[in-house]
Amino acid sequence: MKSIIVANWKMNPATMREGKRLLAATKKAADGAKHANVIVAPPSIFLRELRATYKGKKISFAAQNAHAEKSGAYTGEISFAQVKDACVSYVIIGHAERRAMGESNDDTRKKVAAALAIDMVPILCVGEASRSGSGEHFNFVKEQLRAGLADVLPQKLSKIIVAYEPVWAIGAVKPMSPRDMHEMAIFIRKAVVDLKGELGMAIKILYGGSIDEKTAPSMLRDGDVIGLLVGRASEDAAKFSALLQAIEQTA
Ligand code: PEP
Repeated sequence: MKSIIVANWKMNPATMREGKRLLAATKKAADGAKHANVIVAPPSIFLRELRATYKGKKISFAAQNAHAEKSGAYTGEISFAQVKDACVSYVIIGHAERRAMGESNDDTRKKVAAALAIDMVPILCVGEASRSGSGEHFNFVKEQLRAGLADVLPQKLSKIIVAYEPVWAIGAVKPMSPRDMHEMAIFIRKAVVDLKGELGMAIKILYGGSIDEKTAPSMLRDGDVIGLLVGRASEDAAKFSALLQAIEQTA
């Protein structure tokens, strides 16, 4: 099965010109990747134009965020309908960096529902800020899943992607170990089944947090995940190309 590699450019690069260059390099790398589907999430100001000028089949596009309301007095926000109107089919929801700016579990609930209501794919990010020996992080993640999926019918679960991103591993020196991810993937599946029933087994799980070309293959092989959410290594054309090649060589 092909893995899903999400390239979260965050608030980079500085100009549209650089964005076009990065997308061109990403396209070249993605075209050579037979075992990966790539989803690029550029800053929203670049999204429509990059999507419109992209000629190819290997890359899909995602917004890094959208607002749950359909329209109205929400200065600075963009709606799911506006994202969809730009021919974009994925939206990242509840990224740790947005949660740090105040996005709540209840916001993620509304956004996941808003995405599904117009047939877009939500990429729901969950993950604890820190870990202690007591295992409290499992309850924390379960609560994020409970809230984010609260308005989702079981038959829609196969449309949702959950990106497990432990906050302590985002922007860090190294990722979580594949073994710990494997344990968390089992937990997430069980939690979704507990919350929603057997159809929860179909939930797609990604890992995110300090992945690069050295760590991507082992995480895909041993982490029990269908793909990766990549931040910094996707903002650098050479690094992202090396990452896709590494996946290719070990697929
Ligand atoms: C992210 O932005 O979700 C992320 C995983 O970033 P990084 O790969 O830089 O840790």
